[in-house]
Amino acid sequence: MSGAGDPAVERAVARVDLGAVERNCASLASKLSGAELCAVVKADGYGHGAASCAAAALRGGASRLAVAAAVEGEELRLHFPEAPILVMGALTEAELRRALIADCDIAIWRPGFAALAARLAGELGSPARAHVKHDSGMGRLGERDPEVVVELARSVAADQSLQLAGIWTHFATADEPGDEFFGRQLEAFRAVAGRVREIEPSVLVHAANSAATLREPGSHFDMVRCGVAIYGLDPFQGDPSGNGLEPALELRSYVADVKRFEPGASAGYGRSWRAEGERWVGLLPVGYGDGVRRGLSNQAEVLVSGRRYPVVGTISMDNLTIDLGPETDVRPGAEAVLIGRQGSEVILAEELARRLGTINYEVTCGISSRVPRSHPG
Ligand SMILES: *Cc1c(COP(=O)(O)O)cnc(C)c1O
Repeated sequence: MSGAGDPAVERAVARVDLGAVERNCASLASKLSGAELCAVVKADGYGHGAASCAAAALRGGASRLAVAAAVEGEELRLHFPEAPILVMGALTEAELRRALIADCDIAIWRPGFAALAARLAGELGSPARAHVKHDSGMGRLGERDPEVVVELARSVAADQSLQLAGIWTHFATADEPGDEFFGRQLEAFRAVAGRVREIEPSVLVHAANSAATLREPGSHFDMVRCGVAIYGLDPFQGDPSGNGLEPALELRSYVADVKRFEPGASAGYGRSWRAEGERWVGLLPVGYGDGVRRGLSNQAEVLVSGRRYPVVGTISMDNLTIDLGPETDVRPGAEAVLIGRQGSEVILAEELARRLGTINYEVTCGISSRVPRSHPG
């Protein structure tokens, strides 16, 4: 028996339920009293497919989109001629030009960059929508000194080639409930935002990522920027259903072969696993080249026929092996689930993240481009 010729099985596929993305956005939007929902679809929608997820998010009630890089903004603009798109990251001059040509909103964090944006926007003949960034404690992009932030906002507002579209910040510890630094950042930003609103009453004030959105309504201001939660991933690394979120992505492969192992026989590079007794071992044609990280060797489980089976041996670029036990009814061609649900069992991205010592974000972003994304229905 072989699964290879069966059209129902695919080597590896990431199935993304766009209905789940839409419902997650609707659920998040229902928690906002008046604030806009901006769907963050950077890094190809956290590995889920940026354009498809953006469309689902807009259907679910998001009114804006955000990305990190200019090329991501450009790409999205092709699909969404009307949607406001914010490019959140630092930009080189060439990237800034491309972001402005794509009619994206941009981040401004220091006077020199404001001057550059004003010059380019002047050349292009339409004012750049600028979101002045306050570093209230994240220690990344943004100006720290509140006085300088307010001055920068004032000079942006006064510049014919710029429009003061936003004042914003980003939290360092929103995903650590009970952490007091979050509250300090929030209050520092609230004071700055209040002063900037006096300069430009229509300015969009925004701060919250997914964790802050779920944790603290006082952080919502005029808009929240939700990424991870729209994909049904839990920003607190727990069970997404606890926050009314549905995981959208499933990573599936299939059992390409089933073999009998004699005691002592090993699977994979370096012989890191050996059969203790007689075993059946299943081969999945998926590996770290697909984003199934090598760190999961002898550390993870895979669902087949609704049951959990341990990954045994070292995960290679294109293959991994699972221990099916001393007896098995698993046959070649059986579907295998690395992330997602099968029967009553589920493997969450959060589970893999925990096993790897990382976060769910990195698990889904890490699914490589070799894995096709399918958006059924
Ligand atoms: C990625 C990002 C977000 C979204 O964060 P989530 O935790 O995924 O909701 C929001 N704001 C900025 C500046 C970001 O870089």
